[in-house]
Amino acid sequence: MEKEQLVEALSREFTTLRAQCKVQSGDFSPERVIGRQKQITEKTAALTAYLAHAPYSSAKAAAADLDMAREEILLGYKLIQRTRAAADAIRLSVNGDYLNIVRHYFTGRTYVVVFFTGLACPGRCSFCPNVTIQPDGSRQLSLYGGRQVNSMSSVNIESVFRDIDKITRKDTSILVKISGGLEPLTDPDTMAVILNHAEAMGIHVKLFTNGILLNTPRLRRLALRAGDVRVSLSMVDEDAYGELMFGNDATRRRQYGLPVVLENLRALVKERNRLGTRTRIGINTVVLEENHRDLERFVHMAKDLGLDYVDFKPNYFSTYTPQTLKAISDQRDSVKAQSGKGIDIYFAGSLSGENMFWHHRDGECEPHKQSKFKMFITPGGDCSPVHHGAFPRGRATSDTGVAPYSIGRIGEDASLLDLISNMPCLPGLRYERLNPFEHMLALEIKREEQDRAWGIPESCNPYHFSKGDTLPREILENPLLH
Ligand code: SF4
Repeated sequence: MEKEQLVEALSREFTTLRAQCKVQSGDFSPERVIGRQKQITEKTAALTAYLAHAPYSSAKAAAADLDMAREEILLGYKLIQRTRAAADAIRLSVNGDYLNIVRHYFTGRTYVVVFFTGLACPGRCSFCPNVTIQPDGSRQLSLYGGRQVNSMSSVNIESVFRDIDKITRKDTSILVKISGGLEPLTDPDTMAVILNHAEAMGIHVKLFTNGILLNTPRLRRLALRAGDVRVSLSMVDEDAYGELMFGNDATRRRQYGLPVVLENLRALVKERNRLGTRTRIGINTVVLEENHRDLERFVHMAKDLGLDYVDFKPNYFSTYTPQTLKAISDQRDSVKAQSGKGIDIYFAGSLSGENMFWHHRDGECEPHKQSKFKMFITPGGDCSPVHHGAFPRGRATSDTGVAPYSIGRIGEDASLLDLISNMPCLPGLRYERLNPFEHMLALEIKREEQDRAWGIPESCNPYHFSKGDTLPREILENPLLH
């Protein structure tokens, strides 16, 4: 959208807002208001562009950078909330994902509980944080505690769902994910217990798997009890898949190669269609240096398999070369153009080199603050508010194998909510250890804190578009409307 159109839309909204505020016009001076209206809408257009570029900026930082007063920022935020064109300018920007996070976690009040049920994994992916590549090329998988641990008892899982029930009663919706860590289907019994509780409570479950073990009707039917099955698949060629997933391990390459996974997916879709369940099935593709030229091939493959979607994600454990980022960007439009034609295509904003994820990585999050939004639970019941804290650690760690970001273990005397309410302050975690969604969450938590401290009421949060009609004192008495 051209800047002039945005200014015009903001100007119209200024007039409506002013009327709605029922401003007394005893000292009303048309010239002065027209002058102000022009000035504030132009500044708000600049503020919109600023937030599209750096959505994590606090109001105070924006005020300093744009030479705006606090009242101007407050009014500008309210106008952004109320003006569709301004919201779209941020939503359609390269940082549009940021708004999804705010909508999902802050406005929509969603709490995510992630069970890491896997006790092992047939894969040995070169990019996996659980895999160490030895000098001879062999790959070693870290297990929890350096060896298998006992899975959480069904009694302890039941206690998590009792707490989930308490959380939902506080006007918060719950999403349960079964993921890893390690491959969740290596512990189908625990998965079944989780699915039983979730089904009984009508909770949506997303399953994340590498798809290798979906080779029996029993495990396929178990997976289909989730509302969404996301299969990680990062190669479209058999050799490349074998190399990435298993390196020089010829036995695994033969036993678990790409043809096996594709056959599993075909059978899963067939079974889903036969049962008539509504489970969405798709692939989660981490874009890597090794596969970044194959994005269209992934879409064709997914269509051929009858899948519902492809979700392209960045490899946040590493960085891309500028050439790779350009090649990804060159393919993005043609790949996304196929979305809706029998398949949905999602493309993480952080696959763009201009996305803030790659440019705003200095700093640390306070992990315990993320516990207001999500919790990862390891197979043994250790809880961590950050993804990084729930992976198995190598041999050089404690006997639980869980590094410092655990807030404790669920057991007979400690439920999930007990652990959260008695949570210790966890050490800072550098942004570069966070995945893109946790990174945005950390930035928004901080931005909101800074804005509160600077006197910006929550109802003026520029990303809470549904609060446009809420007019707090700071707006009703804003001198710029008088
Ligand atoms: S499939 Fe997942 S858990 Fe297994 S090695 Fe690969 S990335 Fe790691």
